[in-house]
Amino acid sequence: MATLRIEGAQIITMADGDTQLREGWALEAVDGAITYVGPADQLAPARRPANVPDSRIDGSGCLLLPGFVNAHTHAAMTLFRGAADDMPLDPWLKEKIWPAEAKLTEADVYWGTLLGCAEMIRAGVTCFCDMYHLPRVGARAAMDCGIRMCPSGVLLGIVPNAEDMFVEATEFAREFAARDDLCVHPMLGPHAPYTVPRELMERVIAAAEEIGVPLHIHVAETEANVAESMATYGKRPVQAMDEIGLFDVDVLGAHCVYLDDRDIEIIVEKRVGVAHCPGSNLKLASGIARTRDLLAAGARVGVGTDGCGSNNNLDLLEEARLAALIAKVDTGDPTAMPADAALQMATLGGARAIFLDHCIGSLEAGKRCDCILVDLDAPHMHPRHSLVSHMIYAAQAADVRTTVVNGTVLMRDRELLTIDLGETYAQVAESAERLFG
Ligand SMILES: [Zn+2]
Repeated sequence: MATLRIEGAQIITMADGDTQLREGWALEAVDGAITYVGPADQLAPARRPANVPDSRIDGSGCLLLPGFVNAHTHAAMTLFRGAADDMPLDPWLKEKIWPAEAKLTEADVYWGTLLGCAEMIRAGVTCFCDMYHLPRVGARAAMDCGIRMCPSGVLLGIVPNAEDMFVEATEFAREFAARDDLCVHPMLGPHAPYTVPRELMERVIAAAEEIGVPLHIHVAETEANVAESMATYGKRPVQAMDEIGLFDVDVLGAHCVYLDDRDIEIIVEKRVGVAHCPGSNLKLASGIARTRDLLAAGARVGVGTDGCGSNNNLDLLEEARLAALIAKVDTGDPTAMPADAALQMATLGGARAIFLDHCIGSLEAGKRCDCILVDLDAPHMHPRHSLVSHMIYAAQAADVRTTVVNGTVLMRDRELLTIDLGETYAQVAESAERLFG
């Protein structure tokens, strides 16, 4: 039994969306589960035998928050950072990304994913939803460094090895679902309605139902996606996928930029999670998602960075800020997405969108202990009118000082404890040379 106590920090729990600042509170976790969040003076001094290891973190001068949830990424695409920029989505995928991905080895995926994990841990991300090739290898990188991951093998129907991909992804999901690992939550990842033909999509839906895992899919990312869906199904992507039964299982839809009112109704009725990826949508000029309308309708909305080919970093705080800013300019209304709504999307909203809000997303007894300490000792954090406002409009990823996942400290005082950055940089340089050299 291992006990972790964090004392001295100001706390925002996000429990039921609560953004109130708590002073004089403490958090205790035992074996990775939160056992107490509340006034420090009511925390029992000795709930454990004297010989139990007791880890204590002094959070003085910091804000304690639930860790950020990156609801959509392709972590190993850190290898593609800066390799092909300033292009539209379609030729970017077909001319640059897919040919490079055809050369990927297990080492590439491992080190690319580990580099992404290092970047996310430093930015306060404690859980990420990933869709990528060789999911077993990506999951191994996450398990080696201790970050929480929802991995899914990417499924494409328009490639010669489509069947191999299906077998690999479903076997992986079945194996990890049976393991019931505390930090690896498998999904299945049909890439998108336009790359997965109906027959394969129906098999994927049936597999998700049988194995009992959610689906992770790109939905209505561009106007071209809508046109393709109209040509194939005679319906917009969300309505076409609803008709074939996609949303009868848990679905995390990435992007969801082009939605009409009926699409939003379906997303709410069918409890579809939405991963809003504003940075990627801006860079690829895809468009601006209707997040205000989705939130007003009661949808489960989180934020995602997407992969580093289209972003080009994994800084979720930057995405939350972009989400708040573009909702305002899109609607012409500066109240469209206030700071507390953006902070919620980065934490509890993300947990709801990926169907893990029963175990993460807020600091409450009974949930897993995924949390971060944000350093308040910086010029841009003064004066302290509102720490919620500061987190969205002023804070930087580098302000994250300590990152904890499942009660284990992965970064302490900005030092990564589970990843050798020097080795990771060297391995990634080798992979990048092989893929693009
Ligand atoms: Zn994506």
